[in-house]
Amino acid sequence: MNLKNSPVTQHQFQGHLFSLKRDDLLHGHFNGNKARKFASVLDEPLPGVTRLIGWGSAQANSLTSLAALARIKGLKLTYYVAHKPHWLDDRPMGNYRTALELGAEVLSIADIVGSDAPHPEQYIQTVHGSDPACYIIPEGGRFQAARVGIEQLAKEILSWSRFEKGNNIKVALPSGTGTTALYLSQELKPKGIEVLTCPCVGGKDYLLSQFQELGEYENYPTILELEDKHHFGKLYREDYLIWLSLLQHTDIEFDLLYDPMMWRCLTPWLATNPDTTLMYVHQGGLLGNETMLSRYHRKFGD
Ligand SMILES: *Cc1c(COP(=O)(O)O)cnc(C)c1O
Repeated sequence: MNLKNSPVTQHQFQGHLFSLKRDDLLHGHFNGNKARKFASVLDEPLPGVTRLIGWGSAQANSLTSLAALARIKGLKLTYYVAHKPHWLDDRPMGNYRTALELGAEVLSIADIVGSDAPHPEQYIQTVHGSDPACYIIPEGGRFQAARVGIEQLAKEILSWSRFEKGNNIKVALPSGTGTTALYLSQELKPKGIEVLTCPCVGGKDYLLSQFQELGEYENYPTILELEDKHHFGKLYREDYLIWLSLLQHTDIEFDLLYDPMMWRCLTPWLATNPDTTLMYVHQGGLLGNETMLSRYHRKFGD
């Protein structure tokens, strides 16, 4: 299975040309940065393991990627959520529906142990921590094993950059846990390529603490921020409008949870750095747009 060497396409937005690294095209369900972060799990033989264990939101892109990964490797996936809203099982959508179709088991810890449930990570350690048949993957793929797949992504970007010699290359991608932007920057910064990111979850300080928790203290990406506070998963008219404008001008569907903030940060940044040769990394996650779009329509109408 070829889960690397995604294509690069060229586009124009707000008067700037940019190249787009199409990791959204790596695979139907195992794509984007989750495919890069979980690449080492895909390639490892894992003798004796029959089950992957994950946790996070029932709408997370990593749920679908883990379900697809388990399917490809012939394993079961058990994925824990803190709570599962009841409407979700009545009308499964997006990542949740796709994960169920791929055979994932999604369990609510609140339904199992009641209201004062421990944190999913702690619960999983207690229940599966010493079971050699289980392989536990941290929320959002925030683990050191993610580095291997991101090094491959960096190699591909460096191959592309050889055709852009002499240009002032910057690579942009939004951060959740920051794992992708950090490991990418650690490969590219020593080669003279700056990585730009923005903190979609928490603020700049939170993102920096995430980098340190991965045990890394240097070659960080440059963190761009919006002027106003931005809450993860909240709906913003400006986010939707820039997403729609990108769709109309590039014919590319971007993700609605992370990409709008990055583009909103890039717009003023590019205006003051016009000589930039920009590569944007498309990190997939389009299944999540189904739920985001229905929320936007409910909130703002058509
Ligand atoms: C998971 C995800 C991110 C965040 O990636 P991190 O490595 O956690 O920073 C960004 N964009 C999309 C589309 C994602 O699915």
